[in-house]
Amino acid sequence: MKDLTAIKGVGEFFAKKLSQAGYQSITNLTDVNAKRLQADTGIPLPIAARIIKEVQSLIAETDSEKYVVGVDMGGTKILAATIAEDGTIVSRAKTATKAHKDPTKVIDRIADCINTAIEQAGLKKSSIQAVGIGAPGPLDPQDGVIIFAPNLNWYNVPLKKELENRLDIPTFLDNDVNVGTVGEFTHGAGQGVNSLVGIFVGTGIGGGIILNGELFHGTNKTAGEIGHIIVKAGGPKCNCGNSGCLEAMSSRIAITKRIRRAILKRGKKSHILELNDGNLDSIRSGTLAKAVAAGDKVTIKVMRRTAKYLGIGVASVVNFLNPEMIILGGGVVEALDDKFIERIRRFAVAYALPNTMDGVEIATAKLGDDAGVIGASVLARQHLVTTS
Ligand SMILES: [Zn+2]
Repeated sequence: MKDLTAIKGVGEFFAKKLSQAGYQSITNLTDVNAKRLQADTGIPLPIAARIIKEVQSLIAETDSEKYVVGVDMGGTKILAATIAEDGTIVSRAKTATKAHKDPTKVIDRIADCINTAIEQAGLKKSSIQAVGIGAPGPLDPQDGVIIFAPNLNWYNVPLKKELENRLDIPTFLDNDVNVGTVGEFTHGAGQGVNSLVGIFVGTGIGGGIILNGELFHGTNKTAGEIGHIIVKAGGPKCNCGNSGCLEAMSSRIAITKRIRRAILKRGKKSHILELNDGNLDSIRSGTLAKAVAAGDKVTIKVMRRTAKYLGIGVASVVNFLNPEMIILGGGVVEALDDKFIERIRRFAVAYALPNTMDGVEIATAKLGDDAGVIGASVLARQHLVTTS
C-alpha cells in the first residue's frame, strides 16, 4: 500500500505530524474521519478533511485495479459478489431469479444485484473492472449469448450485451459448471495442480475440465458434459434422450426417483418421508444425509448405488484424461460424509485401468456456493487480460 508521500498537497510539516501520530501509510488512514485525524494530530480540520478526501480517491484508484464482480446465476437465485484479486469476497448480494418473468425483467434483477454488491463494498461502479457471470447453458461464451436455458425458459438471450448496456462495465459469460471448476482450481481444492476435472452432483450432474492450467471448452464449447457419459447401457432414461447416463443414475433427481419407487411401488418402509416434510417429489440433499445418518435402509441402499455409479464415472474420466485431480462437489456430495466419497474412490479404482488412478487425488470441493462467484471473477479477469 502507498505511503503518506502519495498524498498530494500535504506539506512536510503535516506529513511529519501524521507520522508522529502513528499513521505510517494510507492503509492506516482508511478507517479514520477528519475529526479523529484532527484529534490525533492537531492538524486543522479543513486540512484533515482534505487529507481524508485524498486518501479516499487514492484508495478508489487502487481499487479499480483490483476488484471485479462475480455472478452466479441459478434458476432460483442470483448471487453477486465483489471480489479482490486474491479471491477474497469483499461484499455479497443475493436476489430471487423469478425465472417465470420475461428475460428483460430477470436481467434487470441481475443488474440490480450487481449494483447492490458494489454499493455494499463501498465502491463506485467506475472502480469495477469487469463482471463475470456463470449461467446455465448451453451458451456461447465468446458472444455472451445464452442459447438455451431450460430452467429459465430462455432462448438466444444476449446476456453479455444486455448487461453491458445496463451497467457500462465489460461483462463476460461462461457455463455455471465451468465457472465453478475454475473457482475450485484457482482458490479452492485444486490449487497447485495443472490438470483437473470437476464433477458437480446436484439436481443434475455437470463437469468442467482444466487442462494445462486452462479451462477447456471444446470445439462447440460443450466439453465436460460428464453427466451424459453412459455408465449403464440400457439403464434409466435420461433427460437428454439417452439411457443410462451418469446423470440418470446418480443425480439428486435420479436418487429421488429411486427412493420414491422403493417406497410407493415396492412398499418399502422408510423414514425419509417424515424427514423431508412428507414430500417425495424433491428430496433435499440435507435430508438424504440425515436419512443415511439415521440408518434409513432404503436411502442407504440408494446412496450406495449412487456412489458406485459415480465411481464408475470417475474411472471413465480418469482412464480417458488421466488428470492430476478429480474434484467432487455440488449439493449431494457436500451433504454426505467421507464414507460416500470413500465408496466412490473404491469403485473408481476398481473400474480404472491398472495404475491409472495412482496418485490421482479425489478431493471434495472447498468453496461451496462461493465457487461460482469466485470462478466467474477469475474468468472475467482472464478475459480482460486477453482482450486488452
Ligand atoms: Zn444424458
